Amino acid sequence: MLVISSENGGIGLPAAMAALRGGGSAVDAVEAGIRCVESNAADHSVGVGGLPNLLGVVEVDASIMEGATLRAGAVAAVRGYEHPISIARQVMERLPYVLLVGEGAELFAAECGFPRARLETDECLAMWREQLQRILSADQYLKLVRREGLIEATDALVEQSKRGHGTTNLIAVDAQGHIAAGVSTSGLGLKYPGRVGDSPLIGAGNYADDRYGAATCTGYGEMAIRAATARSLVLYMKMGMSLVEAGMEAMRDLRHVGVPWPRGMNLIAVDKDGHHWGASSREGNVYLYMTEDMAEPARAPRVHVPLEG
Ligand code: ASP
Repeated sequence: MLVISSENGGIGLPAAMAALRGGGSAVDAVEAGIRCVESNAADHSVGVGGLPNLLGVVEVDASIMEGATLRAGAVAAVRGYEHPISIARQVMERLPYVLLVGEGAELFAAECGFPRARLETDECLAMWREQLQRILSADQYLKLVRREGLIEATDALVEQSKRGHGTTNLIAVDAQGHIAAGVSTSGLGLKYPGRVGDSPLIGAGNYADDRYGAATCTGYGEMAIRAATARSLVLYMKMGMSLVEAGMEAMRDLRHVGVPWPRGMNLIAVDKDGHHWGASSREGNVYLYMTEDMAEPARAPRVHVPLEG
């Protein structure tokens, strides 16, 4: 049994492993682990205390995929619910769909009985206000308050947005060897309302297939969407590459994706034999892993794959 996560997912790995030790499935483990990250208000990239959009509202995205069946569920641009990963799982299990967004996802969450929650902590709202006031002109700021000039503000804030983002990834392999993968995020800070990145998009930020392995992403979602990064990595393994070769190839694909900012991407992945691997376009990044014989998660270096130049 194995669970791996992005660095901020370490807080959830013991719960994920406990789910597996208790006989839970890989899907149970992914949900249990990611819920811990979503509840962590100190993590400004996921769930409670996440990064607000341009209008000061935290909109969250999440997805979960079951490698045994290729079933998947996802939600995007959801407001006012602490655990989008659990709503995503319910989409997978109760609806003949993969993805619900916005109002419809919130209606579904309410129907499922999920409690409403305030994700906008005082701390994240203070950060949001400080950034807007520091970067925007008084006129631009006043326009935003009137819900006008959002395109112009998006442009002015792109530098800040590049710095303020984050996501959690978690992949689990259960006692039966089944794989599941999950992703949860508040996306890019100061994003245009309704902007959705790679995290809830199956194939972009998340993919799992028991026959080959699984991959999940954090980083600039627009890149992983355009290169179908998570699915590419798994497909490269299907075509005969090793986990490392497939991961390197999926990272290298991103060099051809033109974006108006420095390219940034991080991957974690497993193969069907339980090997794990991580990569980052930034030097010095790590991911975490835990097997059933470990008392706590351990850190593993991500291979540095530069994407520029
Ligand atoms: N991938 C996320 C998104 O684009 C953000 C991140 O991982 O930093 O929404």
